[in-house]
Amino acid sequence: MKKGFGIEKEVCSATLHVTALGVCEAWINGQRVGDSHLLPGWTDYRKRVYYHSFKVGEMLQVGENRLGAVLGLGWYAGFFGPFQHKGYYGNDTWFSCLLEINFKDGSSGSIRSDETWVWQNGPLLEADLLMGETYDARQEIDGWLDPEGDGGETHPVFVVNAETRLPERIEPYPGVPVRTIDELPAQAVSEPNPGVYVFDLSQNMVGVVQLKVDLPAGTEIVLKHGEMLNQDGTVYTENLRYAKATDRYIAKGNGPEIWTPRFTFHGFRYVEVHGLSAQRCQNTGDGSQKKKPFGTELPPLSTITGIVWMSNVEETASFECSDPKVNRLYENIRWGFRGNYLEVPSDCPQRDERLGWTGDTQMFIRSASYLADIRPFFKKWLVDLNDAQHPDGGYPDIAPFMGTLNHGLAAWSDAGIICPYVLWKQYDDLSLVRPWWKQMKAFMASICKEGNRHNDRTEPTWGDWLNIDSPTPNRLIGLAYRAYDARLMQEMAVALGETADAAFFEDEAVCSRALFRDELFDGATISVRTQTANALAIVMELVGGDDLETVKQTLIACVEENKGYLTTGFIGTGYLCPALTKAGRGDLAVQLLLNEEYPSWLYEVNNGATTIWERWNSWTEENGFGDVGMNSFNHYAFGSVCEWMFESLAGIKPALPGFQKLEIEPCFTDKLDYVKASYESVQGTISNAWKKSSKGWKMDLETPVAASVILPGAVYEVEPGAHTFEITA
Ligand code: BGC
Repeated sequence: MKKGFGIEKEVCSATLHVTALGVCEAWINGQRVGDSHLLPGWTDYRKRVYYHSFKVGEMLQVGENRLGAVLGLGWYAGFFGPFQHKGYYGNDTWFSCLLEINFKDGSSGSIRSDETWVWQNGPLLEADLLMGETYDARQEIDGWLDPEGDGGETHPVFVVNAETRLPERIEPYPGVPVRTIDELPAQAVSEPNPGVYVFDLSQNMVGVVQLKVDLPAGTEIVLKHGEMLNQDGTVYTENLRYAKATDRYIAKGNGPEIWTPRFTFHGFRYVEVHGLSAQRCQNTGDGSQKKKPFGTELPPLSTITGIVWMSNVEETASFECSDPKVNRLYENIRWGFRGNYLEVPSDCPQRDERLGWTGDTQMFIRSASYLADIRPFFKKWLVDLNDAQHPDGGYPDIAPFMGTLNHGLAAWSDAGIICPYVLWKQYDDLSLVRPWWKQMKAFMASICKEGNRHNDRTEPTWGDWLNIDSPTPNRLIGLAYRAYDARLMQEMAVALGETADAAFFEDEAVCSRALFRDELFDGATISVRTQTANALAIVMELVGGDDLETVKQTLIACVEENKGYLTTGFIGTGYLCPALTKAGRGDLAVQLLLNEEYPSWLYEVNNGATTIWERWNSWTEENGFGDVGMNSFNHYAFGSVCEWMFESLAGIKPALPGFQKLEIEPCFTDKLDYVKASYESVQGTISNAWKKSSKGWKMDLETPVAASVILPGAVYEVEPGAHTFEITA
């Protein structure tokens, strides 16, 4: 769509506001406006839609100008989710904009989307987030936005008023948009079948590729994306389910052509490229272009570059230790985080799912809060989450919500309480709690008040999802979360100055803990002997006194009886190492981290993982690929051990909200020669490093705030600054 207009006076400044039902890019005089992708982002379009604003004064000129937009289906009208929904919110995409111009003489003017605009077909033939994009470069319109150019055949736009199309709320985008954050050159190429080339980026990533080719006009290149390879070396795509994740490019034939899709994204490490045999020339590596067909040679690596997309949060952490496999694990967690913080915190980025699953989100948020300053990302997603709250108070399984799923389920719905709490604790920022307080209380009423729908917490739920033959009863998980939520609400109420609420939730926590105890214990004996049940009890502080000791010993026994291996699913995994550490068995936690046989984090690393797998057995030596019905190789949930790597292995954790005070309590081990980590807290950079010494360990701490340093046998209170400690083993 586009519009030409004249400017007679010198422009001082100009702002372009854009929104769409669908996904859009705005253009001015042949240049793209801004560098964000998939605008205006994903919301429940029935309730709310965002607009984005750009400073564009420098893109305008005195004389003729052209303002345009490219529009795609996106979440609004394309496919999303696992149920073959297309056009879930609507089928007709829609674009709207307002350009406000201030002139140097003090006057102002504006241009808006209206009936004076025209539309035309361009090279973008198909664009769908799950299916992929098709681009016929032969149909590019030379100078479609060139103020001087003719710009091709056009048609009048259909004008549909905002009032009839938009939900009640149209607001400025509250978060950080998706941007390109990295580029990964291909590292290898192979030819598993004649004329079929597979490029390996060496890293499972999320985004699109940049394709660079030189082909005769009309040659079609097909790009299939996948995370793994089949045995024959072609790209494994079965686990994508109905998502085709296939892009097509049809060459124009006028020399080297570079193309990057704009309205789709994929989760992939490998790209299988068909159609390249027609390539006319090859870069010889010395910079010169030598005309020669491939023949038996392979196409140049520069044909494919991975363009990494993510919601543009600022990364804030570093972690390194003496074990390269653990370092690879840390990178896998980081890449899982990068790939799944794209517009919403998603379960996975590749198959026909990519939803804001609340359980996955709340389990990983503590880890994510070290990896980056995630506040702006959650400022947006907490709106999605609260928009998706059921009138009965239940928070959803996924946000933005999709009709076929549930509300109020244990460990998933609790994200409504846990996420704001973690953000407050990590950043001392109540602005992510206060706006939702009323809704958070409504949720608490739905799970705590006798007679309310979710009160019982026995509704069928996902449980300790993907545990290894060690299920924990729903009601136990539900009551654990209920008691935990109540305590978090009590703490937040105090911080907010809501005294009556604080007293109420304190009582509620006591009463929920008693209910939880009844589920976990039979008299003085534990009746649920799973690692998850006992880890929850310890980390969520649900039992005390003798009971606590019993729970600790049970947890230790559960791990030891299983040869020091884990059995936990999504819920237990993040709590397991912290619980063992609290139980005085940091050594067992370290062992879990360093285990290399199935099931363990390093088993994945040993088998070539570059992100965290959805299942402990997503791939095993004995059985190859896991259940294809649900098998992602980029699911961050089991990466929730990252929080423990910072808080216990490196020993960096907040003693007060926002690291106003620090607590340093490393879990020293002789299984690692050194560990060092740093974190860019809101108070400044914290770094801690320890290494083995002749006597035990030596530790160097740098802290911007006062810290309690808890070492074996001694506690030190230290001032901001650099400190060195010798620890005797
Ligand atoms: C998703 C999960 C999610 C789960 C619910 C799956 O399909 O990928 O990560 O939490 O469903 O159990």
